[in-house]
Amino acid sequence: MMHSIYPWLQDAWNAMHQNKKLPHALIFKGKEGIGKHDFAMTFAKSYLCQSPLANYLPCETCVSCNWFPESHPDFKHIAPVESDDDESSKRKTVRKKNIVIDQIRELSEYLELSAHQEKGKRIVLIEPADALNQAASNALLKILEEPPENTLFILVTSQAQKLIATIRSRCQLIDFRGPSLEESRLFLTDEKITYDESLLSFTGGSPFSAIKELENQSERDVITQLLAQGHHIDVTKVNYGILTQGLDWTLNIIQKWTFDLLLSFHTQQSYYFKKEEARIHSQAKQLNLDALLSFANELNALKKIASHPINQELQLQNIFIKFKQIFEPS
Ligand SMILES: [Zn+2]
Repeated sequence: MMHSIYPWLQDAWNAMHQNKKLPHALIFKGKEGIGKHDFAMTFAKSYLCQSPLANYLPCETCVSCNWFPESHPDFKHIAPVESDDDESSKRKTVRKKNIVIDQIRELSEYLELSAHQEKGKRIVLIEPADALNQAASNALLKILEEPPENTLFILVTSQAQKLIATIRSRCQLIDFRGPSLEESRLFLTDEKITYDESLLSFTGGSPFSAIKELENQSERDVITQLLAQGHHIDVTKVNYGILTQGLDWTLNIIQKWTFDLLLSFHTQQSYYFKKEEARIHSQAKQLNLDALLSFANELNALKKIASHPINQELQLQNIFIKFKQIFEPS
């Protein structure tokens, strides 16, 4: 957990504390990998802290700070679990998890008990809130419709549009800005993290995504090299080991390449794949724009079901076949 607030989130931090009376539910919304989780945890800790510092940071010494987070009786952190319908897939790939109704029922029971601390404040952190499935969303809505006293709900998400509208309308939305490229560079340097500048452009300037992606370097390289082959990809020779991070993750890279193709088509520049700019530009010169746009739509459609237990290899093979077609004359 961070001991201070990331510079790019400092304004949000101040604004939160100038807000004398907080509503009973907040949505922390902002791009993936900009530090929303750390912010929410620090906020929750300081909210429960018995003597917060002048800059609103938690004191780190009171009993509440010592309990936080694992043993704090007035803090509930709800995160996704693997649900039953995923069991049919025996693949060794990362599957998407959901927040399910049992978790919300448990929360409901917990909320019926009174708060442990004297001041009686409680925090419920739901993260990522877009992982709430339909039944869980409805159950949570019921709670938010008649919110228990002195309980603050914080829903953290990078995809607020996925939350049901009735939940969104019951929460105050706090929009978080991401770091500038310069702030990201400074941050990674301060953290003594060795990174390649192209990694930062790949993650759209997000320092935490960059740190996470450092581990996936080899899979990312394999996919990048494949995409760089354009219509020469031999789909029978694709190494499906690239699926160890999940189809969703793999599609994400292909989407970024597709975005860059389109960008390069119009501006001769790339955004995510700076190192491959020349290669992408030469592909952009040969592409069939209609085929590219329909490919982009197909990627979007497939992403929606990518977390389900479908045959991921087959789907990915299909995607590569269609990717090649972008370069065929119409
Ligand atoms: Zn404290």
